[in-house]
Amino acid sequence: MMVVMKESATLADVEAVIERVESAGASAHVSRGELVTVIGVIGDREHVGSIELEGAPGVDQLVPILKPYKLASAQLKEGARTVVEVDGRRIGGPHFTTIAGPCTVESREVMLETARTVRDAGAGLLRGGAYKPRTSPYSFQGLGEAGLRLLQEAKDETGLPIVTELMDVRDLDAVLEVADVIQLGARNMQNYTLLTELGRTGKPVLLKRGLSSTLDELLMSAEYILKEGNEQVLLCERGIRTFETGYRFTLDLMAVPVLKELSHLPVVVDPSHAAGKRDLVLPMSLAAAAAGADGVIVEIHPAPEEAICDGPQALRGEDFSDYMRRLEQAAALAGKELQPVA
Ligand code: PEP
Ligand code: MN
Repeated sequence: MMVVMKESATLADVEAVIERVESAGASAHVSRGELVTVIGVIGDREHVGSIELEGAPGVDQLVPILKPYKLASAQLKEGARTVVEVDGRRIGGPHFTTIAGPCTVESREVMLETARTVRDAGAGLLRGGAYKPRTSPYSFQGLGEAGLRLLQEAKDETGLPIVTELMDVRDLDAVLEVADVIQLGARNMQNYTLLTELGRTGKPVLLKRGLSSTLDELLMSAEYILKEGNEQVLLCERGIRTFETGYRFTLDLMAVPVLKELSHLPVVVDPSHAAGKRDLVLPMSLAAAAAGADGVIVEIHPAPEEAICDGPQALRGEDFSDYMRRLEQAAALAGKELQPVA
């Protein structure tokens, strides 16, 4: 349920509502808009139903939220968009942000060279996995803590904020030291223990859609993070499994406008993992930007033929500044401004 306060409501009125909500065993999530304050009341139906707020001082109206997710719903923010800010880079609202880097952190040379390419082309954030979810248990699983140290070195040199994946809660402290955005991979989208832990950190989270998850399921997973008090969640469409075998996954670009209709959270698209092939990455990035995505996350590598993983889908480092120029045009089509402006 949403409690919409009157414009004239005082701080004490808002506090009183929060107290009533909490004493009934539900939780209150306050969202202060320009004119009015809205309080999201979250809890089981019984608790929420027992709170009598009709006519309470400062309360304008009580609006039920019918979706199974509440804090992630667009309704809660009454049309306002969440903008996640990472070290001066804004993701969401009128901004378009590019996250780029290798699939995995492989060596000092590759990581630093890629980081310079990403910075010089004007992309906003640097990606790279130190812990990798691999289909085969015998494939390279990432450099782990040594990889995190290389990401830190790349950040120190270029100033780029780091996006890196967390797979195991035992690595949380180490990842928190380096990451500016923690990625939760497609295969962990419904790992509720991890989602809850990430909700408690307060760090921005890039939440990838599961390979066969619906948009409602993605939003329910986002809700797990939000309900712990972390509002900085980026939803990521990265391709879903369909009957088509001509490419790795099917990039569901319809998810972009639909997620933006359902939720106030920013939507980022990963064309690399959907495509599995380099040549598809530019056209699908342009399509994502034109569809209104708030950003893309792409894999690049200075020598993709030598990459340890996902080389065939990595953009060549030497092509990256052209890629960024084209992307800027497509983002502009959707009324977005590329971030950061150098
Ligand atoms: C990745 O971004 O490197 C990755 C493994 O992505 P996903 O979880 O979407 O497969
Ligand atoms: Mn990859």
